[in-house]
Amino acid sequence: MCRKISIAIDGPAGAGKTTIARRVSHILGLKYIDTGAMYRAVAWKMLKAGIPLSDEDSIIDMVRNTEIDFAEGDGSKIFVDGKDISREIRTPEVTRLSSPVSAIPGVRRLLVARQRELAGCGGVVMEGRDIGSVVLPDAQIKIFLTASANERAMRRYKEMKAAGMDVNLDSLRHDIEERDHRDSTRADSPLVKASGAVEVNTDNLSIEEVVEQILNISSERMSAECSTG
Ligand code: C5P
Repeated sequence: MCRKISIAIDGPAGAGKTTIARRVSHILGLKYIDTGAMYRAVAWKMLKAGIPLSDEDSIIDMVRNTEIDFAEGDGSKIFVDGKDISREIRTPEVTRLSSPVSAIPGVRRLLVARQRELAGCGGVVMEGRDIGSVVLPDAQIKIFLTASANERAMRRYKEMKAAGMDVNLDSLRHDIEERDHRDSTRADSPLVKASGAVEVNTDNLSIEEVVEQILNISSERMSAECSTG
């Protein structure tokens, strides 16, 4: 049976998931969904509403009453209650809060349900931390993207500098390591390499080389699935 293709791309902060997932989705004509943006959106709205991290009930209530959508044809644009917050969710403050808030099981339950709804019956490239393990465990292609913490901090530094932001490399590295630790050790849906996932270390690879590897893995898996189906 040839199902509509679903590609799950997981990995730690700064491994290149967003750039790679967007390119792969564009080349294959699939929908792109950035689940990290959804946790960031929750953090953004909490800051706006002044809800402290300690008040889990109010946070969960807020998420239940929040509409999260992506722009049709441009999955990198995220809307919360109809407002485009794509830029606002990239500030260091929102980035820092997104990780502890994503460890709250009630928040994850609601966002995972919304992520499955957005994925529909396939035709999607979805990136995050638990896509291959929890959100889309039946995805035909699972990729675990990694890179050293130094390399990931340096990439973020260059990106943010280019966007005109005032950044410090050491504090970026520190934030990345702290997020990695929290994301990998939390009790609910920690960052793990899902069973059946192919690990791609991007340290010494260009964006084009990583994209090519993923396209090769995808076409091998899909032809195997179609010939056995
Ligand atoms: O990918 P990004 O860095 O934008 O994600 C922000 C935060 O959201 C991560 O640090 C992680 O804690 C959380 N996240 C998650 N599960 C996902 C995607 C992101 O817990 N599927």
